[in-house]
Amino acid sequence: MILETAEKALERHELCNHCLGRLFARLGKGTNEERGKAIRFSLNMERSARGLNPIEEPEECGLCHNVFEKIPKLAKFMENAADDLEFETFLVGSRFPEEIVEGEKALWEELGVETGEPINREFNRELGKAFGRISGKEASTSPDVVFIVEPFSEKIEIQINPVYVYGRYRKLVRGIPQTPLPGFDESVASIICRAFSRAFEGKCVFKGAGREDVDVRMLGSGRPFVVEVKRPRRRKVELGRIAEEINASGKVEVLNLHFVSPKEAEEVLTKNHRKEYLALVLVEEGISPEEAENVARKLSGLKIHQRTPWRVRKARADKVRVKRVYKAEARWIDERHFELRLVTDGGLYIKELVSGDKGRTKPSVTELLGKGAWCERLDVLNILDE
Ligand SMILES: [Zn+2]
Repeated sequence: MILETAEKALERHELCNHCLGRLFARLGKGTNEERGKAIRFSLNMERSARGLNPIEEPEECGLCHNVFEKIPKLAKFMENAADDLEFETFLVGSRFPEEIVEGEKALWEELGVETGEPINREFNRELGKAFGRISGKEASTSPDVVFIVEPFSEKIEIQINPVYVYGRYRKLVRGIPQTPLPGFDESVASIICRAFSRAFEGKCVFKGAGREDVDVRMLGSGRPFVVEVKRPRRRKVELGRIAEEINASGKVEVLNLHFVSPKEAEEVLTKNHRKEYLALVLVEEGISPEEAENVARKLSGLKIHQRTPWRVRKARADKVRVKRVYKAEARWIDERHFELRLVTDGGLYIKELVSGDKGRTKPSVTELLGKGAWCERLDVLNILDE
C-alpha cells in the first residue's frame, strides 16, 4: 500500500525525501527524511525487479523547493538575531507561502493520504533541533522566546515572552497614589517599575491586588502585587538587588519577590483578600468611651450594603455590594476621636463605612452612632491571605 502510493506520488510529482517521507509521517519512527529515503530505496528495488528505472531524488523538489537545505543557514540567522537576548527556552514557528501549504493539501487529497504531516510542523521541528544544537538552548512549549521564521524571505521575527514577578509592597508614607495620577510626581507603581525596567531592560506593568487611596498607608506584611515585564532583554536578574533599590526610596518597600507563571500572576490579582484596617474616626459632636465601644460591638459580624461611593461613582459600576465586617475594636482617644481596628472583606470602602456616604452605605458608623462620623486617617494594616 505504502509503496504503491509512493510510486504514484513520485511518477506524477518531483518530491524530495522530506516531502515523500512526510506523506507517511504517522507511520513508524524516525525523521521524515529517513522515512522518505527508505521508501524510495525499497520502491526502487521493486521497480528494478519489474525492469523499471529508479526514481531518484530530484535536483529541486516541486513541493518545498528544497527548503530543508536552508535549515543550517536559518539556524545561524536565528542565533544572530537573538545575539543580545537573555533566554533559556525557545519555540520555532514559521510562515510558509500559501501556494506550498495548499499544494500539500492537494497532494494528500489526490493520493488519498491520511498519514501526512503539514510541512511547517516538520520544518519547525527540524529547525528547532538545529538551533538547539548550535545555541545550547532548550525547545519548550512555554518558552522565553518564540522565533517566527519566513524560510524563503529569510525574515526572522522574535517574540519575547514577558516575565512575571510576585511581591508584596508596603507604602510607608501618605501622599503617594498607587498608580500614576495627575498632580503627583511618583506612585507606588513608578517607584517599583523604575527598578524592574532597568534590571530586565523591558517595559514594566504594575498590577496591585486591590488598591488604597493616596492618603492611606499600606503597612504590615504588605499588599500583594505582580509586575509583568514586557519584552525583557534580560531574564537572569537578581530580585534581591531590585528589592534593595526600591527599599532605598524610603517610601515604598517590597518583600518576598519571586518569579511566577502567568497563571499564578492571574490568581494573585483575582483573589479577594480580607483586610485589616486602622481608622481614626472624628465625631464633631463628641464621643464617649462607651459609645465608641458600642459602635465596635455592633459592627462586628455585620453585613454591610454598600452602594458604589459617590466619590468613585464615575470610575466604578454603580451597584450595591454586600460585604462583611468580621471584627471591630475601638480605642477611645479624646472627646472627639476614637480609633477603629477592622477586619473586613476586600472591596469594602472604609471611609464610607464610617461616614455612611449620605445613606449609600448601610449601616455605617454614622448611622449606628446617631452622630456624624468622619474617617480622618486610614491605614491598611494587613492583607490577610495566608
Ligand atoms: Zn520537498
